[in-house]
Formats: sequence, structure tokens, C-alpha cells
Amino acid sequence: MDINAIRSEYPILSQEVYGRPLIYLDNAATTQLPLPVWRAMERYYTQTHSNVHRGAHLLSETATAQLEEARQTAACFLGAEDSREILFTSGATEGLNLLARSLEHLILPGDHILVTVLEHHSNFLPWQELCARTGAQLHIVPITGSGELDREQLRRLLTLPQVRLAAVTAVSNVLGVCNPIREIAGEVHGAGAWLVVDGAQGLRHGRLDMITLDCDAFAFSAHKMMGPTGTGVLYVKASLLDQLRPCVFGGGMVDQAEELRSAYAPPPAGLEAGTPNIAGIIGLRAAMDYLTRLGLEEIARREAALLSRAEAGLRAMPGIQVYGAPSHRAGALSFNLTGVHPFDAAALLDRLGIALRSGHHCAQPLMRRLGVTGTLRVSPAFYNTEDEVDAFLAGVQKVLDVTEVYHG
Ligand code: PMP
Repeated sequence: MDINAIRSEYPILSQEVYGRPLIYLDNAATTQLPLPVWRAMERYYTQTHSNVHRGAHLLSETATAQLEEARQTAACFLGAEDSREILFTSGATEGLNLLARSLEHLILPGDHILVTVLEHHSNFLPWQELCARTGAQLHIVPITGSGELDREQLRRLLTLPQVRLAAVTAVSNVLGVCNPIREIAGEVHGAGAWLVVDGAQGLRHGRLDMITLDCDAFAFSAHKMMGPTGTGVLYVKASLLDQLRPCVFGGGMVDQAEELRSAYAPPPAGLEAGTPNIAGIIGLRAAMDYLTRLGLEEIARREAALLSRAEAGLRAMPGIQVYGAPSHRAGALSFNLTGVHPFDAAALLDRLGIALRSGHHCAQPLMRRLGVTGTLRVSPAFYNTEDEVDAFLAGVQKVLDVTEVYHG
């Protein structure tokens, strides 16, 4: 990878903050957009902006073709069998909520739904709410001391009668733990349940293949993969897709609207009511093309090397606690400085130009399990450099030094 050439496509990365070069290490929250993604959206807005699906004029037909091409690209990117399995959403959160709503009629009182303690609230609250509405029972799969999913406990819970669904993250946004989705899918399917995967953090860690992973649904957001905010995908395997019922009603999703009762279009249209985020979807397509061009395996290798460098550096510093020691970590790493609140540490690092995330990371059950109210999180992307990781480590050391003086 030619890092200088790559960075030249991200003008935002070459700015200064507080008179220092920006070191952006908050990529698990959102990634930056390269120029090819911007340009694709700019071309759409300056040349073909128009509403999709219902127009008989050239601009509308062009915009519709671009949207449907993006669906094909997403199907290829995910290794889906059929492009109708791709639903466009506003992001992972909407995708998971949409799924929980549109399979509600399949859940009965006394059914069991499993989530894990690693989940972001987006893959926890929709299932908690679904249980409250249907009378199903929610169970939380714990983690081991190293932060990995407790597979023994998962297998035990899967022996409950009527387990209908397990919702599992591909990669934890707090610990960076990678769950073995293919193995978990085998166990969940063995119990006759569906496996829903939160793929929000799982996109830059190698090529994805839904057929091999064998999950029933997979949700993600474009803005964590060099695409724009407000756009995402919910993949649903055909066998589950055909059982879903629309839960958002309006334009674009109806076959025949009658005074008393209406017939809805089959998926994907039936589950995509209203005008989609056309520019965002075009940007998402450009981001997928961009990542494919760079090489997903190469991206994964580079990000793993940067994260290991950060982890090794942090572990070598007295006064730092790193959370979790999983066998496979990707994307993000959580840590704390002994005796320093993560907000204070993040604010001090910010003044050094270093952007990190701090807080509960929308994973409060996991924070309770770790026995903390919050952590600092470092999450490099392939466009970060080794020098930036070293500057981050030097920054953490500086915060340790000044806070020690302050604590007297
Ligand atoms: N799941 C995980 C694991 C995440 O990291 C995030 C974003 N922090 C989400 C879901 C939600 O994504 P969005 O806010 O884009 O819907």
C-alpha cells in the first residue's frame, strides 16, 4: 500500500487541530471519506439528481439504474446469492430495528431470544423491545475472562426449547473481539434458530461471504467503511426475507393500495418505504468499489499491524489497563489510565491533536461486565501511519506523566 498516495485522497487528514497535525484514531465511530466517494456523490447531485423508481424521464431512469447497480455491487461485496436480499437502510441501527419489527409476527410468548453481553445497544435494545412486545424471553450470553464469547454458555442456552433467534456482533466495538460467525451459525442453526449479525465493525477485516458465513441477517453502516453517514445495508437471506412483513408504510412499497386493505410489493421494495438516500447509496457503492480496489485482505493486514503496535505499546506502559486479551482482535482496543477518568484523558489527548473515543461506547451491559463506567478506545484505519500510532503512545505517556504530577 502506498500510504502517501492513499492519504492524499483524504484532505481532512492533513489538517491541523490546536496547531498540531490531526491524528484521527476514532475510526470505529466513523471513518473518513476518500475523494472517489465524494466525487461519486457530487456527480450524482450535479448530473442525475432525481427521484427513483417512479419517473419516466431520463434523470429518474438514470438515478434508478444507479441505485439498482449499487444493490448489485452490495450483493457482490457481501457474497449474497441474490441482490433482492440487499435492503438499503439509514444504517446498522435502522437495519436491526427494521428486522426486529418485521419478524415480530413470527415470535410467540415463551420463545427465547439470545443476545451477547458484547453487543452495541443497536443489537441489544431492538431485541429487548421485541421480547417486551411479544412475551418472548431475552437471555444474555456472557464472555470469558479474555473477553471472548463464552461458547459453552451459548451452547447451553441453545438447548432451551423454542430459541428463535440469536443476535451476535461480528466484531465488538469496545474490545475488538472477533466472533467466529461461521461456527456460531452452525450451532444456532442446529437449534433451529436464526442468526442475526451486527456487521457494523466487521467490514474491513477481510472479504465477506454471506454464503460461507451462513448468517440469516447482517446489518451495517456505510460510514464505518469510508462511505457517507445516513446509509447502510440490511442483508437478509431469502428464506427469512420471504417471511418478513413490512413495518414501515408509504410510497414505493405498495403493490395495490385500496380503501380498506392494501397489497404490498415483495422485498426489497416492500421493506424500503419512502424515498431512499440516493446520494448516500451511490456513495456507499463507490466506497465498496474503493475498498475492493485497495484489497480487503491487504486492508485487514495493515489495520491488524497498526492495532498490534498500539496494543504492544500500551501494554508496555505501567499505569495502563488494556481490556480483554482475545485470540483475534480487530479494529478497536479499549483501555484506561489508572486514576484518570477516560473523558479527562480524551480531552488532554485532543489538545495534542489525537482524536480518540471515550465513554461507554453504547455498550453499557459490557461496561458493567468490565466493572467500569467507560473506557478510552483507539481504532486505527489503514490510512493511519505507524508514526501516528507512535505519537498516540507518546501522547498517552504524556497524559500519564502530567496526571501523576497533578495527583501529586
Ligand atoms: N453496532 C456496532 C457494533 C457499532 O459499532 C455501531 C456504531 N457505533 C452500531 C451498531 C450502530 O451504527 P449506526 O449508528 O451507524 O447505526
